[in-house]
Amino acid sequence: MKIDGKCHCGYITIEGEADPEKTTICHCKDCQTGTGSAFRVSVPVAGATFRISGQPTTYLKTTAESGNPRAQAFCPRCGSPIYSTTPGEGAQPSYMVRVGILRQRNELVPRRQIWFRSAQPWVTELTPIHRIEKQA
Ligand SMILES: [Zn+2]
Ligand SMILES: [Zn+2]
Repeated sequence: MKIDGKCHCGYITIEGEADPEKTTICHCKDCQTGTGSAFRVSVPVAGATFRISGQPTTYLKTTAESGNPRAQAFCPRCGSPIYSTTPGEGAQPSYMVRVGILRQRNELVPRRQIWFRSAQPWVTELTPIHRIEKQA
């Protein structure tokens, strides 16, 4: 599936071929911290198809829960998370692109949830929370 998107300020734009069947929610504590939210939603994009404009800032983080080092990329101007990938120079085999920055976000329905043991307990119980169609 062709995907494209941009960060909140528009400095970073990306495109590529994603596998929507691998859209994943991650509840790990690093994703909670890195998003400032309860969980992260990502989809893998094949490195050979991945195109990016603008220069993201990256940092390397060995996540406490998996033990794997990951390069985390975000927009240096607005802070939007863009992707994570394996550490190293040049193109990588795959990029976990953050679904919230994609124009196709409505079509990318998560198929699995990982690190569910650290999920916030209320994420499965959103229905009873008071709903307002727009800002209160
Ligand atoms: Zn930006
Ligand atoms: Zn995570």
